[in-house]
Amino acid sequence: MIPFLDLKAQYDQIKPEIDAAVARVVSSGHFVLGPEVRAFEGRFAEYCRTSHCLAVNSGTSALHLALLAAGIGLGDEVITVSMTFVATTAAILYSGAKPVFVDVDPVTWTMDPDLIEAAVTPRTKAILPVHLHGLMAEMDPIMSIARRHGLVVIEDAAQAHGAEYRGRRAGSIGDLGCFSFYPGKNLGAFGEGGAVVTDRPELARRVSLLRDWGQETKYNHIIAGYNYRMDEIQSAILNVKLDYIESWTESRRSLAERYNGLLSELAFACPQPPRHSRHVYHVYSVRLQRRDDALTLLRDAGIGAGIHYPIPVHLQKAYAELGYTAGDLPVTENLANEFLSLPIYPELLPDRAAAVVSTLRDAGALLPTEAASNRAQHSQSFITRSCNRRAS
Ligand SMILES: *Cc1c(COP(=O)(O)O)cnc(C)c1O
Repeated sequence: MIPFLDLKAQYDQIKPEIDAAVARVVSSGHFVLGPEVRAFEGRFAEYCRTSHCLAVNSGTSALHLALLAAGIGLGDEVITVSMTFVATTAAILYSGAKPVFVDVDPVTWTMDPDLIEAAVTPRTKAILPVHLHGLMAEMDPIMSIARRHGLVVIEDAAQAHGAEYRGRRAGSIGDLGCFSFYPGKNLGAFGEGGAVVTDRPELARRVSLLRDWGQETKYNHIIAGYNYRMDEIQSAILNVKLDYIESWTESRRSLAERYNGLLSELAFACPQPPRHSRHVYHVYSVRLQRRDDALTLLRDAGIGAGIHYPIPVHLQKAYAELGYTAGDLPVTENLANEFLSLPIYPELLPDRAAAVVSTLRDAGALLPTEAASNRAQHSQSFITRSCNRRAS
């Protein structure tokens, strides 16, 4: 048995510290937006290298408030991607704006900057790239297009705590950056949590008001807000975990290197972070044509594998009214059919990663075909090189 994720293993490692932090909050009698939250905000802003951090009750709330703080609402359009968790799209709809999808790049799997300009209309107000699986979108071209057209950039960094692009941290390049601390994320609370980071004081102030009923002082509501506050217990837990995030991230990165090396023998298409990016491997996905067979095979062998994500947002029934159909975003749709996520978490032992790969290798009937088809794909320009190489 190799689970896809093992949250208990992480808790076991740091149990005394976590238990003490929780006990401290319980006996303090202060449960919402108190000293633990303020301490966490200061430390997480520093971690992201931004001047402000506002902690909220989920990543979805972070996205919603970032959009509202940037003045986005009814009648506006926000350019984003469909290869993401639905929350990205949902938050845009909560704000009253319309999501406009562009396809992703076939190598990085993040927003294809070459497609953005054609999607800009007079109603476009923002670009919302997603740092999928822990790899940052190509922020330089995204920022220059945004500046040229006067658009706000909001980073969905829910999967990318500590990821870097040309030496700059996730969340710090756009006007606002949004994080999730859902338990399975790289930095996870013991419940729901999220944060908005920004360098702009006026945006920070708006997020701060909006998350707490628009109160400037108690019962003095200067704008219509929300109850999106973070709990003290969650902040206390995050304060403990923040001390470990860098070493956990390095463990994820070395596991990914190990997978890349092992899978290159099988000619699998692996993640290809550009040299200027620090991938934090929230998810480790490979692409393969006989994905569903491989998924069944791994699950039969007791290995937790997953798909992130099997149905792109634009083809979800819930968002049919946006008017997209199959074929509109071909790269996204191919990825949804070919993605296979293998177990990756700091506590996963390297020999377990090797066991995952040998299970795939032993599937004799499956893999020769797969290797051949991947080799065939390599000869086409739009697909990747082998696993132990990187995109330039
Ligand atoms: C997890 C996630 C969210 C939503 O965060 P929650 O804390 O679950 O609300 C948004 N975007 C992406 C890309 C995510 O992975």
